[in-house]
Amino acid sequence: MSPAAEIARRRTFAIISHPDAGKTTLTEKFLLYGNAIHLAGAVKDRKNQRATASDWMELEKQRGISISSTVLQFDYNGCAVNLLDTPGHKDFSEDTYRVLTAVDAALMVIDAAKGVEAQTRKLFEVCRRRGVPIFTFMNKCDRPTMNPIALLDELESVLGLQSSPVIWPLGNGPSFKGVFDRRTREVHLFERVPGGKFQAPVNVADLNDPLVREKLDDYTFDQVREQLEMLDGAGHPFDLNAVQHGQQTPVYFGSAVNNFGIQLLLDGFLKDSVPPAPRKSVTISVPGFPQPTTAREVPVDDPKFSGFIFKIQANMDAKHRDRIAFLRICSGKFERDMVVTHQRTGKQVRLSSSHKLFGRDRETVDEAWPGDVIGLVGHSEFGIGDTLTTDRSICYDEIPRFPSEVFSYISNPNTGDAKKYRAGLEQLLQEGVVQSFNARNAPPGATLLAAVGPLQFEVVQWRLQSEYNAESKLVPAPWTLLKWAEPHPALKNPSSIVVAQGVSFGTDKFDNPIVLFPNDWTLRYFIEKNPELKLHDMPIE
Ligand code: GDP
Repeated sequence: MSPAAEIARRRTFAIISHPDAGKTTLTEKFLLYGNAIHLAGAVKDRKNQRATASDWMELEKQRGISISSTVLQFDYNGCAVNLLDTPGHKDFSEDTYRVLTAVDAALMVIDAAKGVEAQTRKLFEVCRRRGVPIFTFMNKCDRPTMNPIALLDELESVLGLQSSPVIWPLGNGPSFKGVFDRRTREVHLFERVPGGKFQAPVNVADLNDPLVREKLDDYTFDQVREQLEMLDGAGHPFDLNAVQHGQQTPVYFGSAVNNFGIQLLLDGFLKDSVPPAPRKSVTISVPGFPQPTTAREVPVDDPKFSGFIFKIQANMDAKHRDRIAFLRICSGKFERDMVVTHQRTGKQVRLSSSHKLFGRDRETVDEAWPGDVIGLVGHSEFGIGDTLTTDRSICYDEIPRFPSEVFSYISNPNTGDAKKYRAGLEQLLQEGVVQSFNARNAPPGATLLAAVGPLQFEVVQWRLQSEYNAESKLVPAPWTLLKWAEPHPALKNPSSIVVAQGVSFGTDKFDNPIVLFPNDWTLRYFIEKNPELKLHDMPIE
């Protein structure tokens, strides 16, 4: 297959949703279609206290939530699919945000009884900023749902997203009898199969077919006909160009657990979604390279290899005790044993231990293409956001930073394992599990950690103990807001600055000044009293 054909068949996406909307269930069904279940061992029901293929960390098992992202790769209908799993719990949204920098499209799963929920909204915003295509699946139609028209209205009013339904539900809850495909004008009838383990048997017919008439009660039939007329008359026509630029979302309805409407979704998604797109390379001085790189778009068919690391995961396999850097390939062809430049350090590295990943299973990968995600084992020098390339003029800056909301001091209460503690903490910080800052007036020996949610701190403690055998102590710090301050002479002597009680100062790891606030009020007071000090949500580049 030619490189162009290899790239054109890649589909790299993530499923975004509020917890419990059905992301795991849908993922499992996709794997079923991709014939990939055998690779993972059986994907199991979480209710039986067993983990699914993508839930493999001990802590995840204990809590029944998904913490770390994995990559699920499978072939379906000629497409090479990279499905990037994202942690669902809100405390891990930072990790999820980073994963979303590596995808070319997103599938938004919504519980049709609940509509757009908080976590979906946040994740959607991250996708929208990147302009990637977003497809919508209204799940759980076998249960009583909101009116489907109201669900579309919510996409418009809550997310500001124009929608175009491709698949329309026939009834809901007990009267859910199937879906109507607005493209082919065909009805797919749904039959309940206990457990929904296999593809539900489907009958395809016209809306006015006697079989369909017989299945639908008069009320549902009339309602559906009215809704379809309304959509045909007043709905947004499907606009592929708008979809591929993230301006319109195709909407599908179905039921993941019953495996109904899933194939229609998968087929439609893979057809209308996009192959890998060119990425922006930024202007930056790279070590050992004579001039700064120039900002430009790197075409996916650029023969030079490039990619960026968007996630680091340590010790996926307790037996191996190693570390995997996940690399999203952006251009060129990856070949095992190739030598690339690590742009941040300017060093040449040989990529000999590269893996295709599937939950906890690995398979050595000899070649890979733009859109693919590979795991690189054993390079402790790699950090999140690093570019690896054979072209010194390419450097990506794809890692968004997010405002921290919780803060805690961590320290080592047991001097006997101080060395292990320091090594472990350094490693975890490099992985980006949490961020760290230097706070003025920090207790001796304590490091200030900042995260999006408190569970991230627990992960740090748990991993220090289980992977580095190091004890740690957490003491909550009183702030809820962190801002970066533009450099200003007054910051050299913060005690001269007028602040409300509880406000503190510090620096990030690059020595940029930061200000820490206990609440909104103290922030507003600061802005009012110190107009000359400019604050930002993100570090100043
Ligand atoms: P996640 O948190 O988004 O990964 O959600 P899960 O896939 O774990 O699903 C949450 C719950 O919803 C589980 O109990 C599923 O069995 C259930 N569920 C998923 N899809 C459907 C569906 O189509 N219909 C119904 N009734 N329940 C569903």
